[in-house]
Amino acid sequence: MIRITELQLPLDHPVEALRLAIVKRLKIKDSDLLDFTVFKRSYDARKKNSEITFVYIIDLSANNEEKILSRFANDKNIRPAPDTHYYPVAQAPADLSEHPLVIGFGPCGLFAALTLAQMGFKPIVLERGKDVRRRTKDTWALWRNKVLTPESNVQFGEGGAGLFSDGKLYSQIKDPKFYGRKVMHEFVRAGAPEEIMYVSKPHIGTFRLTGVVAAMREEIKALGGEVRFESKVTDFLIEDGRIEGVTLADGETLRSRYVVLALGHSSRDTFRKIHERGVYVEAKPFAVGFRIEHPQSLIDDARLGKYAGHQELGAADYKVVYHAKNGRAVYSFCMCPGGTVVAATSEPNRVVTNGMSQYSRNERNANAGIVVGINPNEDFPGGPLAGVELQERLESRAFELGGSDYCAPGQLVGDFIRGKASSEFGEVEPSYKPGVRLGDLAPSLPDYVIEAIREALPEFGKQIRGFDRDDAILTGIETRTSSPVRITRDHETLQSLNTRGLYPAGEGAGYAGGILSAGVDGIKVAEAVAKAMLADLQGQ
Ligand code: FAD
Repeated sequence: MIRITELQLPLDHPVEALRLAIVKRLKIKDSDLLDFTVFKRSYDARKKNSEITFVYIIDLSANNEEKILSRFANDKNIRPAPDTHYYPVAQAPADLSEHPLVIGFGPCGLFAALTLAQMGFKPIVLERGKDVRRRTKDTWALWRNKVLTPESNVQFGEGGAGLFSDGKLYSQIKDPKFYGRKVMHEFVRAGAPEEIMYVSKPHIGTFRLTGVVAAMREEIKALGGEVRFESKVTDFLIEDGRIEGVTLADGETLRSRYVVLALGHSSRDTFRKIHERGVYVEAKPFAVGFRIEHPQSLIDDARLGKYAGHQELGAADYKVVYHAKNGRAVYSFCMCPGGTVVAATSEPNRVVTNGMSQYSRNERNANAGIVVGINPNEDFPGGPLAGVELQERLESRAFELGGSDYCAPGQLVGDFIRGKASSEFGEVEPSYKPGVRLGDLAPSLPDYVIEAIREALPEFGKQIRGFDRDDAILTGIETRTSSPVRITRDHETLQSLNTRGLYPAGEGAGYAGGILSAGVDGIKVAEAVAKAMLADLQGQ
């Protein structure tokens, strides 16, 4: 296989033009090109109003590949293609009697369980929330009717926190073994659009993701795994520094010496329990701030210029960063083009925001978190769970500022910059349901965060014209940007530093920050569990 990189074609090129361009680039006859696939397609819109072209990475097979490669030996854009296929690292014996447990069925637990099941290890998944169908109903009840179900919501249930999301599937993790390709491939097999395999910023969108997750659950079951909903793990059996099993909320005990802990960042009661049981946990940095909303057309114009609204490009995204005078970094987080701001609490009497969109990304507004990084040493000293406690305090205060009925506190950007409470919306209508109550957001977050965001917004307005327009809306608050704890694991074996057989994984353990990276971490941990189980069997 040969890989061509940096192959450029106009935005509106006909399908056939790609084959012609490959043949021309390699200077071969059309009949010598046997097959090709698009590995990646991206576009560069950083220079406004200059021509936007598609930039392709193509993997192909051709007659006389060695000859072609030697002809282009000095061309860095024509190289042998890497093997991106996934190869299982182990196969369980047919008579395996012990089942690994996977706690949590978000993207990390999903991929850990699927990979284990594909290797024959028949995992048992324990998920505190409900299946996608019932969970969707519960989640909408908060958004529409202000009724929260603490065990079934945006954070908890089948699909994890990634279910009601933009379904963005990109990440900046290093991935030398191409685990990310396996994640994409499994999503496509389960019904996700084929294009996620090659577009540079793939996304699935909420509605499609729900079907995909349900299909993957069925595959795990078909391979002999078990997926149990409404099965909250409430305690951990640890003997002589080794996990031996877990206890569920209904009192049932499940014994296993191999437990994947894929909790997500919102399982505060479980963080407290593992800390109480002596599992090594430390505080880690995260970020807090607000969601900002603009008309999507403003972002499209600023980012795509004359190409705004081009059907091949879709709704534009953005990324902004600013270093404030008080030393704080302010940055955009989880930007959702053409999406909505959502109520994302899992606890009663708390308010926290996030963003989601559908595959079409055709809602009126663009939204993103505008957040400030905070860290344990400076901002929340006081032990491993101090970040959790800070989040809880801030989310409770946001609930009160929003009127104590799950509406969120909000303020117009112009008023926020001038330090004046807002009382009336302008042209931008907030999308957050059940609603936004305007006022003053300054009391909702620490002063240094407010100060840094106040300074950053006009600077962002210089990067994206209109970003700091008076009637753009800030909705508070964003606190669950990543886990406030790390359940530290050994680099080599991926087991907890002090609890053998316990495999902390995914976002809650501090080893992922998004759907793709959580899925990749799930695969890595599944491999580590499989190898350990086989090694232990051989040692018996
Ligand atoms: P989670 O997805 O949080 O899953 C953890 C699971 O564990 C949950 O289902 C929970 O119920 C279960 N659990 C917890 N404790 C227990 C227990 N004691 N017993 C049993 N089960 C338990 N990321 C992106 O990459 N792209 C996006 O577009 C995107 N948009 C987002 C939008 C929203 C609204 C939210 C909330 C998040 C979004 N994210 C997005 C972040 C992404 O969802 C997370 O990074 C990802 O889901 C983390 O995966 P995880 O499996 O580690 O944890």
